[in-house]
Amino acid sequence: MKPIGETTVLITGASRGIGAAIAARFAREGYRIVIHYAKSHEQANEVARRCMSYGSEVMTISADLRSTEQLQRMKEKLEAEGFAPDILVNNAGTAYYGLFTDVTEADWDECLAINLKGAFLCSQLFAPYMIRQRYGRIINISSVWGISGASCEVMYSAAKGGVNAFTKALAKELAPSGITVNAVAPGAVDTDMIEHLDTEERHALQEEIPLGRLGTPEEVASLVYYLALPESGYVTGQVISPNGGWQA
Ligand code: NAP
Repeated sequence: MKPIGETTVLITGASRGIGAAIAARFAREGYRIVIHYAKSHEQANEVARRCMSYGSEVMTISADLRSTEQLQRMKEKLEAEGFAPDILVNNAGTAYYGLFTDVTEADWDECLAINLKGAFLCSQLFAPYMIRQRYGRIINISSVWGISGASCEVMYSAAKGGVNAFTKALAKELAPSGITVNAVAPGAVDTDMIEHLDTEERHALQEEIPLGRLGTPEEVASLVYYLALPESGYVTGQVISPNGGWQA
């Protein structure tokens, strides 16, 4: 196993929200960080500056998760720069709200491409390196809706449910290679993803949560960090949900 300063963590969707908090958490602990994003170039650079302020070595890279070609190019660039990930956090995602009857086939394909196929493609690209070194961590950011399902979020729930099943199956396949695979399935976390809620809806949501508040990106990042530790090596194939007791 490499020393922490030589261990690389790739976090997809790290320009904002939960991904940015995960990047900062690992940087604070001394890991090398790859900040992946789609379009938010300035925000990704801002996260990079924060990570570098902790003394971490950082690389930023953009790739649309819907494009196999762009992901392949990302892998080649990371290898060329010596940033092949020992720890992969499949975090990037987008939510979709609307009635099931209004969902188009294109909506469905897009939602599953970003939330489910993206995790599959990144895992398939980076697992061989982990298999060769017989050590690695894959952590997929799912959602509580992938466990319990949400009305008007049928596609998103199906995609995240897929992520949970993918996690359990891949954990079994990669365990003999010394790689753990787990999913973190947050409840409501205060990021851009829920900014569409007005004050009243936000208040109603908080009242439903036994702890009486939304989660913070940093709280999710703590759990991801724990799962990545070498001493967490006996935890694999698990879907763990930090949700304030909401969907316990
Ligand atoms: P967010 O603030 O909206 O950030 C989403 C991230 O995903 C951004 O970095 C974005 O990059 C990236 N992304 C979006 N579409 C992409 C694409 N096509 N290709 C590559 N990257 C793409 O979201 P968040 O709330 O932090 O959510 C992070 C993860 O947690 C997601 O998987 C989400 O489903 C899950 N989650 C969130 C909550 C919540 O309440 N917030 C609850 C449960 C689960 P750009 O900035 O470049 O667009």
